Amino acid sequence: MQQVGPRVGMRLIHMTHTKHRGSDTYHYYRLRTAWVDRPPEGVRTGSLRCATCGDMVGFRARSRARAKARRLLWRALGLIATASLAVTIMITARMISSVSGGASPGLSCPPLSRWSH
Ligand SMILES: [Zn+2]
Repeated sequence: MQQVGPRVGMRLIHMTHTKHRGSDTYHYYRLRTAWVDRPPEGVRTGSLRCATCGDMVGFRARSRARAKARRLLWRALGLIATASLAVTIMITARMISSVSGGASPGLSCPPLSRWSH
């Protein structure tokens, strides 16, 4: 697990230009990571200067405790999503097996006698 450090790397994306080639659109970016100190508690807001164009870009940095809580929350949500996906797969599998089970003569219920006579 990645540790929540005292500083957070803010990914600053500056779109330089867009090109159209046929039906495709290409976006050109310039990426830069700016390091911001986390506040001791709560959320800190501020602004960073974009190195490409000089514009100020707002940011929000969470305290380590908040960042950790947030990470746990996301992990819990991920687990729930995985669990519900597994249930969906199980239900689907059960439906498929009951459909195919119904199609095979030996397992169909109740007319067993129809096949034995
Ligand atoms: Zn910029």
